[in-house]
Amino acid sequence: MTANIIDGKSVASTLKARLKHTLQAECNKDKQTPGLAVIIVGEDPASVIYVRNKRLGCEEIGIHSHHYALPVETTEQYLIDLIRQLNADPTIHGILIQTPLPQHVNAQTLVECIDPHKDVDGFHPYNLGRLAQRKPLLRPCTPFGVMMLLDHIQQVYKNKHAVIVGASNSVGRPMAFELLIAGATVTLCHRFTSDLSYFIRQADILVAAVGRAGLITGKDIKEGATVIDVGISRLPNGKLTGDVEFSVASERAAWITPVPGGVGPMTVAVLLYNTLLAAGFTISAEPL
Ligand code: NAD
Repeated sequence: MTANIIDGKSVASTLKARLKHTLQAECNKDKQTPGLAVIIVGEDPASVIYVRNKRLGCEEIGIHSHHYALPVETTEQYLIDLIRQLNADPTIHGILIQTPLPQHVNAQTLVECIDPHKDVDGFHPYNLGRLAQRKPLLRPCTPFGVMMLLDHIQQVYKNKHAVIVGASNSVGRPMAFELLIAGATVTLCHRFTSDLSYFIRQADILVAAVGRAGLITGKDIKEGATVIDVGISRLPNGKLTGDVEFSVASERAAWITPVPGGVGPMTVAVLLYNTLLAAGFTISAEPL
């Protein structure tokens, strides 16, 4: 078997076109242009690129983006005060804090300061709690983007075993809730899982979200599986790669995402989706 490639760039473009159309149509009917505030502290090179991509995404579909690029020594209290101001600002509908943050700043404290209805990353305990209770509002971008990719290929969930590798608050755990809601039987693996291969061999749907190149050996992939690679690592030659041994896995899987060009573009597109949702826009739920 040679796997079909899930083209995240193309699906993300379709989503962005839908958002742009929705935004133009509703703004013509007197709706306010949505505003997204992005806070970045310090100059972590990867974060600077992510933030630039988010700003370009906003420009592409017509969201006002407001950037707060702050020096690395910015205090936690300053950031709390800024978030409170943004919470109260009616032109701002979404607030995002780019991570990693400097050591002296507690990311969880800041996330909990964000008005949950402006929490476009979906990381506030209110939004994660809603997802856990099957009543999601603003959903974490990467797992929701993965669901959009799976729906795009008309993935069947019921009676399927979904195995997630990586259990972070931002990716693996909310991914498990998303797949549970969809009807899959879910196993969540992490650094203390002793026989990872045992679980991977059973996966009808595999989501790898660790950030260790080649952690998932291709020969463990079940014939006909759907493989979603969220992981991103940089090889010594500068190229980006995922967690899955792509060349061998793609001979066994039915569907597979590439890295780059798979999940990454969806994460940004879903952030824009969440911003429109937070601004009160109604977005079609049709699969992309
Ligand atoms: P994280 O470091 O917060 O979490 C990693 C998880 O992997 C942890 O739960 C840990 O227990 C688990 N883990 C570590 N070693 C393991 C092992 N040997 N076997 C099984 N599990 C193991 O990372 P994160 O923020 O969840 O991100 C994971 C990866 O996804 C990173 O490469 C990150 O860059 C990437 N990422 C990509 C996107 C995207 O848009 N494509 C978005 C977010 C994160």
